[in-house]
Amino acid sequence: MRVEPLATEKESGMRTAIGVDLGGSHVTAGVVDEDGAIKERHERDLEDLSFDVVIEALGAVVGAALAGAGKVAAIGVGSPGNIDPKTGIVRWSPNLGWENAPLGPTLAKRFDVPVFVANDARCATLGEYTFGTGAGTKNFALLTIGTGIGGGIVAGGELLLGDHFGAGEIGHHQIRPTDGFICSCGKVGCFEAQASGTGLIRHAFALAPSFPKSALLDVTRDKLSSKKIRKAAQAGDGHALAAWKNYAADLALGLANIIAFLNPRRIALGGGVSSAGDFMLDAVRARVEELTTSVPRGETEIVIARLGNDAGQVGAATMAFRGGLTEKLQ
Ligand SMILES: [Zn+2]
Repeated sequence: MRVEPLATEKESGMRTAIGVDLGGSHVTAGVVDEDGAIKERHERDLEDLSFDVVIEALGAVVGAALAGAGKVAAIGVGSPGNIDPKTGIVRWSPNLGWENAPLGPTLAKRFDVPVFVANDARCATLGEYTFGTGAGTKNFALLTIGTGIGGGIVAGGELLLGDHFGAGEIGHHQIRPTDGFICSCGKVGCFEAQASGTGLIRHAFALAPSFPKSALLDVTRDKLSSKKIRKAAQAGDGHALAAWKNYAADLALGLANIIAFLNPRRIALGGGVSSAGDFMLDAVRARVEELTTSVPRGETEIVIARLGNDAGQVGAATMAFRGGLTEKLQ
């Protein structure tokens, strides 16, 4: 049964969509308006990532969001993996362990509302480009730096999707193929392996022999986080600072490569690690300038993303309002 919109919605003509951010540990559904504002949100933790279990959790949060939203234009879902936005099928997702999973069609059957699905990082890029630091630019990149590194590129005002929806997989360009850490994709020294939150932890482990008295890593595995290392670095801990320095050097390398490929006006850093703010920006900006050779120096702004953890939900809803993910943004 369709719920009639509230009187205020009728008067303002503002549409509402459900934006879903599906991650490896939890799923969040937000009620989002056309200005990118999240009106309410519903979240569930995910422990079992099998398709049927995730669909149940998704169904629960989307159902709760729909109940509070009244009439909605569409549902947008950002999911990890290689996704065909035309069919809503997750072609493969190492994070979720899925292959050819009919995510969009299954949800569409369940709810009497159009459903659109796309890669989570592309959705976040669309959100940050529309409502955050990408607004007003034509050439823009977003990096979401958390457990891994997700990315998205806007070039000439168009969101790059690629021939097989793989454009923007910035996390898997190699920056240290001979002496780097092994990436989840199997290659050595991917940007993600070196410069994600996991990368920061690895840099700390790699330096442990040089700091035999350091207690930085003397915690149980579940307590060890990139945030702990970053906070220790900010507090002046020698081991953590050395790890942070190596981490920032690798992050700068990847950023300079993006500048060489794209010559963007702005690169926004989002995800958990970006909560380091100026501590992160100060560590990378000068090195990025040094590594920028064939593109004018100092012209690409490196900033912290504005939408933070909301980018995925807002971007997924923005995609839903637009009737699916397409390259043309103007
Ligand atoms: Zn990789």
